[in-house]
Amino acid sequence: MLEQCLGIPHISTGDMLRDRIRHAAEAGTAVAATMQSGALVSDEVVNLMVEARLSEPDAAAGFVLDGYPRTLSQADQLCKYLDRRGIREVVIYLAVDYNIVIARLTGRRQCPRCGTLYNLATQPPRVDEVCDLDGESLVIRDDDNAEVIRERLDAYDRQTRPVLDYIVSAGRRVIQVDASNDPPETVYQKICHAMECNDCSKDRC
Ligand SMILES: [Zn+2]
Repeated sequence: MLEQCLGIPHISTGDMLRDRIRHAAEAGTAVAATMQSGALVSDEVVNLMVEARLSEPDAAAGFVLDGYPRTLSQADQLCKYLDRRGIREVVIYLAVDYNIVIARLTGRRQCPRCGTLYNLATQPPRVDEVCDLDGESLVIRDDDNAEVIRERLDAYDRQTRPVLDYIVSAGRRVIQVDASNDPPETVYQKICHAMECNDCSKDRC
């Protein structure tokens, strides 16, 4: 939604990493193993991947970063990069209750053919476990099983929560939005409202 409203690309490190695994590049083998164990991929790998992506022409006027930075060293690297390029960032912190996160992730399903995401709790397919668009049987992604989710949340507490403290203490602009219960459209409106949406025309939002 932000991508459409602001007219800038949505850059998801998760999508980029999954993409690399799919293409089974030689370097992707280690990445795949790390992702499936729930641990976070090394900072150096991710930093290089993100900087390469941000230097592409479509990101010249801005970008939405999703899933990055996740660690202190990534945050430090990104802040230096943004300062070097003179980019003023806004950090959007979507606060979600821990138990709600687990319920959402365990209900997540994906179509292996077209990639469409569903959620049994909040956004179920019309027919049980079948893609609305192409009738393919839905699958649980390897990184969405309960044990892997717990490891991911542990990694989040250990590595990502300190990023927020770092960003706040560095005086960077942070918007906190409660995203526990509202549907995506409402969360989006809260974000736009908090940003005062100066960068986009009102009729597109
Ligand atoms: Zn599909």
